[in-house]
Amino acid sequence: MNINRRKFIQNSACLSATRAIACSPNSMMGASHSERTKIEKPVFIATWPFGKFSCEAAVKIANDSGSMLDAIEKGIWVTENDVKNASVGIGGIPNANGQVELDACIMSGPNHNAGSVAGIRGILHPISIARLVMESTPHVMLVGEGAKQFAIANGHPETNLLTTQQKENWQKWQTEQFEKSKKSKPKIDEDHHDTIAMLGLDSKGNLYGGCSTSGWGYKLAGRVGDSPIIGSGLYVDNQVGAAGATGLGENVMRHCGSFLVVEMMRQGASPTEACEMAVNRIAEIDPKNLGNLDINFIALNKAGQHGAAGTSKGFKYSVSSPAGSEVLNAKAMSEKAIGPEGGNRK
Ligand code: ASP
Repeated sequence: MNINRRKFIQNSACLSATRAIACSPNSMMGASHSERTKIEKPVFIATWPFGKFSCEAAVKIANDSGSMLDAIEKGIWVTENDVKNASVGIGGIPNANGQVELDACIMSGPNHNAGSVAGIRGILHPISIARLVMESTPHVMLVGEGAKQFAIANGHPETNLLTTQQKENWQKWQTEQFEKSKKSKPKIDEDHHDTIAMLGLDSKGNLYGGCSTSGWGYKLAGRVGDSPIIGSGLYVDNQVGAAGATGLGENVMRHCGSFLVVEMMRQGASPTEACEMAVNRIAEIDPKNLGNLDINFIALNKAGQHGAAGTSKGFKYSVSSPAGSEVLNAKAMSEKAIGPEGGNRK
């Protein structure tokens, strides 16, 4: 969807006049219910229904400690600690060699600071290492063995992240791949991946975000997706809003997806509209069609309005504030997303 000139001018004027995004009826066209109601703060949103537990923890931590970065970090811990979650932290699906490799990043809006780790093995909380990179080094990103040694040197013990269940699944996958390879070239499994991307806004209007994943299941060793890449899996702009992504990282990172969503909000789009516009813009220039992109975004603006849109089947996002928590359907943007389990159904 291209934002038309009239709407762009209208929305930009509205935005610069008040910095409140939902001020014209036009800008509310794609707005969800949450974009029309008063928002209590701190508010946290996260990808997928499992993100609700992280968001709830984050609200509590922010209220108790007053630290939004603690809230993002420790909120994400909840998902990283969940052995049953096969796409984040311990219990995550390993790479093709049977090693769990994790990616994470964090951003702090007020000082536009960022930290990130990619392809880190044997460390339970990659989000904490990303925060350490941000706060205690002059760098933004550490990868692989260097990231692991940095984590250990900072008191994060080496941990076995490969659960018995995932080891068994991986062995089965290997056998299947071997059988398939006799007939055709083995393909990377595109069905096993998810991410927690979490965004937060405090009562002072400051924005924060974090992202953590084990990435694409049975990926090639060393593969890094969008999640730890600032601007792709996560982006926070304290003047405007924040966005996070989940889906096939290769299709997000080739388009700087989260940055794109934030820029759409800067032009006056509501969070839901911004996610939709980013997906459509990507689909316009990508050889893959909408149904094959597997990309989903969540967005939160400076006024506390939130939204989401994507192409994956059943994409939902979680919201938590002192007013309570809910899991919302994202705007479904492809036939696949509208399918039996997806779409804008409650
Ligand atoms: N975006 C993640 C990656 O490609 C996976 C996901 O969110 O589904 O590593």
